Amino acid sequence: MDKFESIAEFTKLRQECVFCKTPMRVHLTNFVGLTDTGLAVINAPLKNDRFEFKIEHTTPSFKINANVFIDAGTNTLIFDNFTNGELPSIDEYVVKQTFEDYRPHIELYCPSKKCGLSYHLVGQSIRLVKVHPVAGMWTIQPFGLSIEAARVKSYVIHNDWHNKKSFIYSRNNEEAKPIQVALVDFTTMDKQKLITRIQTIVTFS
Ligand SMILES: [Zn+2]
Repeated sequence: MDKFESIAEFTKLRQECVFCKTPMRVHLTNFVGLTDTGLAVINAPLKNDRFEFKIEHTTPSFKINANVFIDAGTNTLIFDNFTNGELPSIDEYVVKQTFEDYRPHIELYCPSKKCGLSYHLVGQSIRLVKVHPVAGMWTIQPFGLSIEAARVKSYVIHNDWHNKKSFIYSRNNEEAKPIQVALVDFTTMDKQKLITRIQTIVTFS
């Protein structure tokens, strides 16, 4: 699978929505599942080629606060001012592990309510590698596209380009097995065609 050398490269993958041509927005978020009930711990918009956010994480044995700065162009991440509230300093590898455990990823998404298809592209989870001698500074490993997705009413369509398949999930029943079909190529259809296609598939399967 193709990997992108930097976040900035990944954002060039799709600059406008395939359905409504609205410019795609970029944010860094974490995996919360298909429904709206999950709460994103991280939800940082890309501004001036940077993401800035805080992580606050409590476990029975420790508590972490850290400021996080990510430069999308140079593909570097900095953990700053990290503490566990009890010790004056906490190992940056613990902070790094906590961050990775959230399964953080870059998402490109169509923000148009009028479009209504929530077209989005999800990058693979961010992994960090320590190449900088500077304390708190990490490099983001190249990552690929995880899924291309859209919503039609209560259904979510996940496109797996690697295996040329689409998976249709019901948001009303996240536990149900998705319906698996040959790849639904969004670039070859408009909004109405997609809606008709998905409704036909879910009706007859
Ligand atoms: Zn759109």
